[in-house]
Amino acid sequence: MATEKTARVWALKDFDVGRSLGRGKFGSVFLARERESKFVVALKVLFKNQLEKHNLETQLRREIEIQYHLRHPNILRLFGYFHDSTRVYIVLEYAGRGCVYDLLKKEKKFESPRAASYVKQLADALHYCHQKRVIHRDIKPENLLVTMDDKIKLADFGWSVHSPSSRRSTVCGTLDYICPEMLENRVHNYAADNWSIGVLLYEFLHGEPPFMMEGQMDTIERIRKAAYEFPPDMPKGACDVVAKLLRLEGSERLPLPDVIAHPWIVEESSKYVGGEKEATVKE
Ligand code: ATP
Ligand code: MG
Repeated sequence: MATEKTARVWALKDFDVGRSLGRGKFGSVFLARERESKFVVALKVLFKNQLEKHNLETQLRREIEIQYHLRHPNILRLFGYFHDSTRVYIVLEYAGRGCVYDLLKKEKKFESPRAASYVKQLADALHYCHQKRVIHRDIKPENLLVTMDDKIKLADFGWSVHSPSSRRSTVCGTLDYICPEMLENRVHNYAADNWSIGVLLYEFLHGEPPFMMEGQMDTIERIRKAAYEFPPDMPKGACDVVAKLLRLEGSERLPLPDVIAHPWIVEESSKYVGGEKEATVKE
């Protein structure tokens, strides 16, 4: 970053740009390699006129600022950014397996050890964020990336804020992961992220999130009442974690260190070897 003395000033000519890794609403992400070091990164390219049109400059600046300063093994590193006359480029850590959303689509659901391991890594990343007074507020499978060695990397700090916040949450896209207080535009705090972890654990094991309905209004109704049911095959320990996270009252949601130390999370995640070796750990 320009303000950091030691930071490197990059330009597009410093990178060999390869294939597209995905598209977002306002730009694309490419595989790229820094020419001098040969270091492989993901280069996110955003168009300035699009950012201006949608009034996203402030949000992007905050996203970059927050993510740049977070250093945790389960948070996607943001190495820096640069721009030219038409585009903004963000240099990101590369996550070779793409996002959890695509993995879930392909594999339908995850076995307990994998679900527990992912949740544990996510809870650890979020606990670190919360200690730095950052709430992510947009925890969902699209924003969780996975590396080649099967580590979770939390990404996309576009909605994150410093706590507490009453900033209106202009919700676009899916409502499934949002907590009741944000849905109702009440003041919210760190516990917004704890709720989303509960939704995710349920979805990892079941293949669908707990409040999913045909119509958005029905989903909203169910979230506001925390009305959901456990499928009969969901392990009892997992039900216990989910039930303790999906509480209407934010202050009653299981604290993240307790998620990480929960007996079911500890036991199941310890069985998970990850990646290619997964098949060998099944009994
Ligand atoms: P939206 O706002 O719609 O979520 P976005 O502009 O935030 O989009 P991203 O979600 O960051 O865009 O990226 C789009 C897609 O590109 C992701 O879903 C993922 O598949 C891929 N991608 C993004 N960053 C990386 C990365 N660091 N490593 C590997 N793939 C990535
Ligand atoms: Mg995204």
